[in-house]
Amino acid sequence: MLVYKFGGTSVGSVINMNHVKDIISTPEKKIIVLSAMSGTTNALVAISEAIAIGNSALARDQINTLNEHYNTAVYDLLHEKVLRKDVSDYVNAIFSQLNQVTTKTYNLQHHNRILAIGELLSTYMFSRFLEQEGFSVALLPALDFMRIDRNSEPDNFYIKQNLSRLIDGQQSADVYITQGFISLDADGVITNLKRGGSDYTATIIGAALEADEVQIWTDIDGFHNNDPRYVNDTTALSYLSYDEAAELAYFGAKILHPQTVMPVRRLDIPLRLKNTMAPDAHGTLITNQTHGEGIKAIAAKDGITAIKIKSVRMLLAHGFLKKVFEIFETYETAIDMITTSEIAVSLTIDHTSNLENIITELQKFAEVEVEDYMSIVCLVGNQIIYHPDTPELFQVLQDVTIRMIAYGGSNNNISLLVNTSDKLETLQKLQRYVFNGYSVLA
Ligand code: ASP
Ligand code: MG
Repeated sequence: MLVYKFGGTSVGSVINMNHVKDIISTPEKKIIVLSAMSGTTNALVAISEAIAIGNSALARDQINTLNEHYNTAVYDLLHEKVLRKDVSDYVNAIFSQLNQVTTKTYNLQHHNRILAIGELLSTYMFSRFLEQEGFSVALLPALDFMRIDRNSEPDNFYIKQNLSRLIDGQQSADVYITQGFISLDADGVITNLKRGGSDYTATIIGAALEADEVQIWTDIDGFHNNDPRYVNDTTALSYLSYDEAAELAYFGAKILHPQTVMPVRRLDIPLRLKNTMAPDAHGTLITNQTHGEGIKAIAAKDGITAIKIKSVRMLLAHGFLKKVFEIFETYETAIDMITTSEIAVSLTIDHTSNLENIITELQKFAEVEVEDYMSIVCLVGNQIIYHPDTPELFQVLQDVTIRMIAYGGSNNNISLLVNTSDKLETLQKLQRYVFNGYSVLA
């Protein structure tokens, strides 16, 4: 079994849906995981926010606009009359339910239900479209098998049992379609895997079915060696190891949801990133193999807050770091980078919703300084910490203020903390010197 995931742009227009149809027209059995059509989830967030602040007139306006958009897409995509009517009824029913929510007392469950609509629409439309095109297709509702536990981890046993049962019940289908992103929580209530979560759905499914390969189809030729939004002349990487891809995805490479690599790494299932708009391009193949030497790729993650915790008396006394970590644990805040000295420890977080509480707790035994608007620049490559060219990077960046460095946490990663205002310069300088062959010494 193969798992294919198509992102928002890939299902974002009738032309692209036709590309997707061509790509999946191979004889192997496959599960297709779809995102919402591009722009839809953002529009749903806006609708949900309008309802939350009680502006139901605005919400209704936005709902109508989105409904119209879908009516046009349905009309263009489906020419077979019965199917067109069926999909159009489905779409209109969903939007009329959504309109009813605008007058209800609003809560988080409404928000998550509203966000789920995008994937429900894209999968319904696309499965009917494939039917029209002569495929033998079965739609598997994600909410019948996808569940996360109380730690927001996939409930693998439940997923495997239920997904296998659903597939066994529809053996004759060649293509199974399901929604990315949406899931049940431990109480059986609708939730999601966070923005961009369809990638994660695909690898969770891949692991549950022990798939031969998981392919993530998007609108770029795979992982690039630097962020193409900020740097010219980036190039696609043909191969990455699971560890390298996980670091890049976590530290800002937008192409992949940060948790995507985990489920497939565990089972050594190849993960391939491909471009729907250029299906013949190699893309990036992610396996347990390492290729190349030295700095291979750079990514950056914004929205980082640095916290310096200073305690002249206690720092390197045993038990101090435990006390610090326990506070972050209590407030469910993950730490990304950490560096220590004799009298202080600095660390970074990217979720600040509990920052006030964390600071109050830390101040009971230490001085605390907080700096925000920081970015982590992450460099990955096979054994880069030992590579002879790596030290040059500090010369390249001599004019950039580096607030923290994590070197040696793993052999394949170096992370630098810089002010977000210096990020662009940092990425561009690294690109010139690391990949475009300029030398600092010249
Ligand atoms: N539709 C969701 C989002 O926009 C999930 C995804 O596209 O992966 O975040
Ligand atoms: Mg995505």
